[in-house]
Amino acid sequence: EAEQLKKLIGQPANTTDNHTVELVANIGSPKDLETVIENDGEGIGLFRTEFLYMDRDSLPTEEEQFQAYQQVLSTMANKPVVIRTLDVGGDKDLPYLDLPEELNPFLGFRALRLCLERDDLFRVQLRALLRASVYGNLKIMFPMVATLEEFRQAKAILEEEKQSLIQAGHDISDDIEVGIMVEIPSTAALADQFAKEVDFFSIGTNDLIQYTMAADRMNEHVSHLYQPYHPAVLRLIKQVIDASHAEGKWTGMCGEMAGDEVAIPILLGLGLDEFSMSASAVLPARKQIQNLSYSTLQEATTEILSQSTNADVKAYVEKHFLN
Ligand code: PEP
Ligand code: MG
Repeated sequence: EAEQLKKLIGQPANTTDNHTVELVANIGSPKDLETVIENDGEGIGLFRTEFLYMDRDSLPTEEEQFQAYQQVLSTMANKPVVIRTLDVGGDKDLPYLDLPEELNPFLGFRALRLCLERDDLFRVQLRALLRASVYGNLKIMFPMVATLEEFRQAKAILEEEKQSLIQAGHDISDDIEVGIMVEIPSTAALADQFAKEVDFFSIGTNDLIQYTMAADRMNEHVSHLYQPYHPAVLRLIKQVIDASHAEGKWTGMCGEMAGDEVAIPILLGLGLDEFSMSASAVLPARKQIQNLSYSTLQEATTEILSQSTNADVKAYVEKHFLN
């Protein structure tokens, strides 16, 4: 089995009718790169930068961050690397920031909301990213975007830091894509507007599912409502992918769902361009995709999206597309 999978190293993830998608990996620190290389990840679809800020008692410096980003970019040698800006708050606390106690942390002061308020620390991270950009193929991604104004504001701050670094004589790549995570239903619903301004989307289903279903992803009492194949979730995903393509942009997915064998045929049929998953899932996903027909899945999309329940969708996919 493992031997069989190793044979897929170096091969593209293309369907029987030659539609190719990108299979990239999620990482939490540069230490994870070894496993990514071993499993032939075609790039990094999500670098969660929180690790740089956690388990310590002060903010990481620009230099410390620069080192980490440079290491990831250089190691991936011009393969795409999507680095997400700080996503703390919610379940991830940083004691030294003295964040307020909140009644609903997942609906509260987290991620980009915090970064726009505390732009002092946001600017440090952006400067480190910009300086590292010349070492590889960097794409910058903002988490938890709910409104266009937030994206515009974040992008304006990025642009200010870029100009100031250039003026100080730094070399900065001039083709850094800037995109957003789609993990809040408002953003999925307004994807056509966002698509005109962002360079790419990456759907964060871990949060998109919890916010769409109003079911806390950490609460076992409502875990039966945390439904990845719920047709409402799938319709949102379709809307995002279609909106991006209408503007000539690409859409990836970096939630757990991207590496799930029931979800993969659905997402492929919906036209998802990039699948980002834990490194160990890359080769199994490649094998699965190489045995699927894109045109057949495209044709099945209408039927899949017109199912009524999570269970119906799952049963449909298992019957037709899993063996
Ligand atoms: C997500 O929400 O799907 C995601 C990838 O981000 P995180 O799991 O870090 O919230
Ligand atoms: Mg998230």
